[in-house]
Amino acid sequence: MQIKEVTLRHLQMKLKFPFTTSFGTFQDRDFILLEAKDKNGHSGWGESVAFHSPWYSEETMKTNWHMLEDYLIPALLNQEITHPDEVSEVFSNIRKNNMAKSTIEGAVWDLYSQEQGISLASALGGKKSKIEVGISIGIQDTASDLLRIIEKHVEEGYKRMKVKIKPGWDVDVMREVRKEFPDVPLMADANSAYTLKDIDTLKALDEFDLMMIEQPLASDDIIDHAKLQQAISTPVCLDESIHSYEDARKAIELGSCGIINIKIGRVGGLSESKRIHDLCESHHSPVWCGGMLESGIGRAHNVALTTLSNFIMPGDTAASSRYWEKDIITPEVTVEDGYITVPNKPGIGYEPDLETIESYTIEKKTYK
Ligand SMILES: [Mg+2]
Repeated sequence: MQIKEVTLRHLQMKLKFPFTTSFGTFQDRDFILLEAKDKNGHSGWGESVAFHSPWYSEETMKTNWHMLEDYLIPALLNQEITHPDEVSEVFSNIRKNNMAKSTIEGAVWDLYSQEQGISLASALGGKKSKIEVGISIGIQDTASDLLRIIEKHVEEGYKRMKVKIKPGWDVDVMREVRKEFPDVPLMADANSAYTLKDIDTLKALDEFDLMMIEQPLASDDIIDHAKLQQAISTPVCLDESIHSYEDARKAIELGSCGIINIKIGRVGGLSESKRIHDLCESHHSPVWCGGMLESGIGRAHNVALTTLSNFIMPGDTAASSRYWEKDIITPEVTVEDGYITVPNKPGIGYEPDLETIESYTIEKKTYK
């Protein structure tokens, strides 16, 4: 397989509602869409999950564009590769920049599975025909707003509710949620808003029988998380702290977490995601697939990855219609009774809608 041409597009899509985390609020989602063509004219698609600003990680849309244009695309163009796992070797002289690497690696996986005539899920080794999905709910103005949103999503059948928390929007809010929804599978995501000084607050969350608390402490930490995990009964899940198989191995060895949220972009692609998945499975540590407010292309990659056997907890990959008026794939990703049916067509299994893609495109450049 050889990549002969790559097109980068800067897209801007408006979220249906403003999304608030412990770092701030935004509604416009800017991202890079990558189309890679092979010599037979097939197109593989990848999406960069980097945000416009560096609040989640140091990578941004602009740094991803720079890395792709100046390093990653030139390194991969016209290289003969037989399997997508080889992409990481091609990039072995380029440090980090995982979201940028993942953008093009995802397109290679899509192309590879198309050339094999199998679905991306099958190419990865996934067996599930449908996957369970949960939902991620940003910080709201009031607890009653949050309760109403949870009620709506429980009615829609979503399999677990993830509530973003931050100091001042945590124990009291979770208490209200638990009072109204005593049995709903519930978890909290702090996006690194706490330190070990907040240990009493974090301990207080134990009473709500949460499935996990996600990334309570610093985004680069695994030591303090190990101390915290010893002090609380709620399983700690790591998100921002895990960038590689090696990070996951060390976190498991230290007892820093019981669960890992795998985000394809954060760990540099599908091959590394699969390695982390396999490692966690061998340690009986469950994984699940986190969301980054993806368009349909990134969403399709998440769906495929989630078909692997150790994704035993519902992920964040909700329906397209939860976030977008109109997504860029046909059909859109839909959720029925809390499940997404995994497409079985070759590649990502959803058709990129070129007309809609063009309508969201601000800038476009082709490299060959
Ligand atoms: Mg998270």
